[in-house]
Parts: sequence; structure tokens; C-alpha cells
Amino acid sequence: MAEEQPSEALRPRTGAKAILAVHSAKGGVGKSTVSVNLAVGLGRRGLRVGLLDADIHGPSATVLLGNADWPDPGPEPNTIIPIEAHGIHFISMGNIANKQTPLIWRGAMVHNMLSQFYSQVLWPELDVLIIDMPPGTGDALLTTAQADPPSGVIVVSTPQELSLLDTVRGVRAFRDLNVPILGFVENMSFLSCAGCGDEADLFGQGAVEAVAEQLGYPFLGALPIDAAICESGDAGVPFVLKDGEAASVRAMSQVIDQVQAGLTEWETLTKWSVEWRAMDWLERVAEPPRQQQTEGYPLRALWQVSRDELGVMWNDGATHIVGTRSLRLACPCARCVDEISGEPLLDPKTVPGDISLKAVNSVGRYGLAPQFTDGHKSGIYSFPYLRALCEQGKTT
Ligand code: ADP
Repeated sequence: MAEEQPSEALRPRTGAKAILAVHSAKGGVGKSTVSVNLAVGLGRRGLRVGLLDADIHGPSATVLLGNADWPDPGPEPNTIIPIEAHGIHFISMGNIANKQTPLIWRGAMVHNMLSQFYSQVLWPELDVLIIDMPPGTGDALLTTAQADPPSGVIVVSTPQELSLLDTVRGVRAFRDLNVPILGFVENMSFLSCAGCGDEADLFGQGAVEAVAEQLGYPFLGALPIDAAICESGDAGVPFVLKDGEAASVRAMSQVIDQVQAGLTEWETLTKWSVEWRAMDWLERVAEPPRQQQTEGYPLRALWQVSRDELGVMWNDGATHIVGTRSLRLACPCARCVDEISGEPLLDPKTVPGDISLKAVNSVGRYGLAPQFTDGHKSGIYSFPYLRALCEQGKTT
């Protein structure tokens, strides 16, 4: 399969101070509704907000924000300018695909499409970028993580037991990648009577809060089932812009308050990397920026040992030398491993014997993205995965 051009294709463009990915294990739980209203609510409070609708299977920002315009081209070739609506900038497949375009994307296609969203959308200066993620924890998260690592994830769930079980599974996947969970939102929590204001519990109100507490994550708030939420979504006017007295608007404002309060803490991490050069007698050591050298960050240093060896030193002092070819062969991306069956897709014979590295870049708090000399660079090696490779001795 043809590789996209290295270094350009996943060049981060958003430059947002904080990037919040909104996740749900399943579709239909109100993830997009929460993303859009959070974005517009933060925008109303004076923040410069972007919304990237990465749910390319079911893009809904176009409808929820009431603007189906085509994006204008940017000044550089193959670039587009995000669309504006209700005080925020956004981009969605709904503004690009026409009704005939099949929205059945898998693995590498999702990766390519989202990569284009990152590299070709000219975002203005942003305080916060909200990403409406596709449901589940597939390749989309890794692509997002590689392009512009999210500060963390906001998890939306309904309180039904089945939805919660999937949610807990999803959260484990994020934990494995060391992507911080910023908090949980319970949607369709209770029925609020528009007339008397009474609340009726339909699905088990409070269950998401209980799970958040059990797992040790913040709870950001609970939104009622409210016909007005659905109607305003269909009308393209986010409900958070409506009557401030409604229970749903008050509940959403509380979620926005909490997110706004957390923004400084969630500002994105500085990227760092080790670049491969022609070897001289000096080994080049790269260390994470000081503010990143916290207890939870597992890496102390990376360096170029030789043309085809990477040195890795962990925070606990363990040190490994990793062969670049074995690192390439272990690439876990959707091009190299079938994301559903786990079967290898990479034919080792296609990997040059003298393969080397161009650079190894940090990816948020959760891993590394090597750029190989064969142009391949779509793999993210989460720290636990890299550590396991090192310890199995597969990498020497
Ligand atoms: P997802 O992004 O998880 O697929 P959506 O945000 O598109 O879900 O919501 C699915 C449908 O449910 C939409 O029609 C939306 O208007 C409606 N909806 C979402 N949250 C609520 C709510 N709290 N009360 C009533 N309807 C809601």
C-alpha cells in the first residue's frame, strides 16, 4: 500500500492549547450533542474554540450546528478553512462528503481521512479543540494521538448497564495508552418534566457517576433526557444557547464550568524527539522536557546508539538497545496488523535489511512514533507495548 509523504501528512496544524477528545463506547448516546454544546458553550464564554468532527462514520456536527456549507479553500494548495457557526470553527465530513459518498471507512482509510483533517485544515489560533471521536477505541484514536495528541478524553455514557460495560472496556484501552481520562458525563440520565420540573429516573440515574468514582475519575455532570435537546439538535441550534432556566441547560453549564476550570491543567504536552544523523563519535541523547518528567511519565531518555540501534532509558533505570529493523517489524499500526483479527499484514520481506530511523517523536503522555527510512511512520508504540518488546528481547 502506498505510504503518504512522511513528515508532512501528519504535521500538527491545530496548535490548540488544549485538545479534548470526546469519546463514547457506542453510537447514539449523545457524544456529538455533548461535543457540540461543550464547544459552543466554551465559545460563548470567550474562548477560541474549534470542533473537529472525527466521527466520519456518522458525522453530525453539520446538522447540530446548522451549517452544511462547503469549506473555503485555503491560500496553500490542498488546504481548507474551517466553517464558522455559533461562534466556533468546525470541520466535519458532513461538509465534505455528498450523500452518495459511502461512509464505510476502515482502518487505514480512517487513518488517511483523519490525517487529512489534521494536515489540510487551517485552524485559526485556538484555546481549545474539541474532537468528536468515532465510537469505540480503534485506529482513529491513534491517528489523532499521532497528529496532535489530545490532552485527554471526556467519556460520555448513558447509565444503562450494557452501555456502561462497554464504557469501562473503552476506558481500559485509553489507560493502556496512558491517555488521561479527564472526566465522565452521564447523558439521558433522567427525565425532567418541562411542566413541574420533577425528575423521573428511567435507566438508572447515577450509574455513570458511580463508575467514575469506582475507577477514580472526575464526574463532570449528568444531562437529562429532554425533547428540547433533540429538537434543537435537529434545528441546528445548540440547546446550550437556549433558555438558561431549563434543567438541561443548567446541567450542561455545569459540565462546561468543570471543563473550563480544568483547561489550564490539560494544556497539551510539548513534543520532543530524537533525530537520526550521520554518526560521529557523539551519541545524541534526547530527554523529555522538564515539566514532563513526572512520576507517571515512564521515559527518561532516548538516543541514537548507532545507525540502526535506538537506546531507551526508562524512569526506573532500565535501559534497552532496540534494533531499528525489529522495531519496524513490530509496528502495531492498522497497515501492519489487521485491527480486527490481529493478524499481521506486514510482509517482513518488504522491510529493507538496512532500514534505519529518521526520527523518533514523542506522542503525548502515551508513547513514541518512529519515522523509518522506508517512509513508514503511522505506528504508535505505547510505552507499555515498547517496554514489553524490550523485555521480551525482541528488539535487540
Ligand atoms: P452520538 O454522537 O453518541 O451518536 P448524538 O449526539 O448524535 O449521539 O445523539 C443521538 C440522538 O439523541 C440525537 O437525535 C440527539 O438529538 C438525541 N439526544 C442526545 N442527547 C439527548 C438528550 N439528553 N435528550 C434527548 N435527546 C438527546
